[in-house]
Amino acid sequence: MLKPPVGILGGTFDPVHIGHLRPAIEARDALGLAEIRLIPNHIPPHRANPLCSSEQRLAMVRLAAAENPGFVVDERELKRDKPSWTIDTLIELRGELPDTPLCFLMGMDSLLTLPSWHRWQELLDYAHLVVSLRPGWQPDYPADIAGLLARHGTRRAEDLHLKLSGHIWLADNLPIALSATRLRDLLARGQDTRYLLPACVAHYIEQEGLYRTVAENPQAGPAQPGGKPGHP
Ligand code: ATP
Repeated sequence: MLKPPVGILGGTFDPVHIGHLRPAIEARDALGLAEIRLIPNHIPPHRANPLCSSEQRLAMVRLAAAENPGFVVDERELKRDKPSWTIDTLIELRGELPDTPLCFLMGMDSLLTLPSWHRWQELLDYAHLVVSLRPGWQPDYPADIAGLLARHGTRRAEDLHLKLSGHIWLADNLPIALSATRLRDLLARGQDTRYLLPACVAHYIEQEGLYRTVAENPQAGPAQPGGKPGHP
């Protein structure tokens, strides 16, 4: 008998925002996930270094997790002295949770760029994929992703409880057109960011004086829902 599935959400979280948290809450409730593990990356292999330190990003993720039932923070990627490949994290988690289905949560941008991820074809050996709608990223699948969906896609939430890994579930979440890039841009311009991120995280940003100037924020630019290649 398998244990209830656990959700895993990796990200740079620079900063964590409602585009991360709302789809995760909705996946938790739609799929009956026992918990959501937020895993901040240390060294994102495919993108510019984050603006905030690992400690600051971790502090923000901890604040967000603390006010959400079932959310926990997993620091393993911050402690690793090498790139945060998702496959390595999933292999480790599978070893630690041998009877628990793992649901790796990602936005549509990540699914569309999956073939650029390290050992992407092995991800489904260790976890299910739960993919959230993300405005700006149409489900217009390249052939390899269409093939993956044909082989692994399911519409039945129960399927994710019955196997440890191997399914892809497309969520019907409230689409949220927000990226951390856009949020950093708003913060750099001193604009009001209320309701785009948890109030406790906004307070931390204010207190620490983060994301204040455009100079400190070279990535700030026109609002794009994704704006960068996918997660590792
Ligand atoms: P940045 O703008 O700095 O590139 P981001 O907002 O895209 O950051 P990440 O930390 O890179 O956030 O994303 C982590 C995960 O969260 C990815 O799987 C991404 O697809 C997902 N995600 C981020 N924002 C959204 C959103 N608005 N809707 C759905 N999924 C999202």
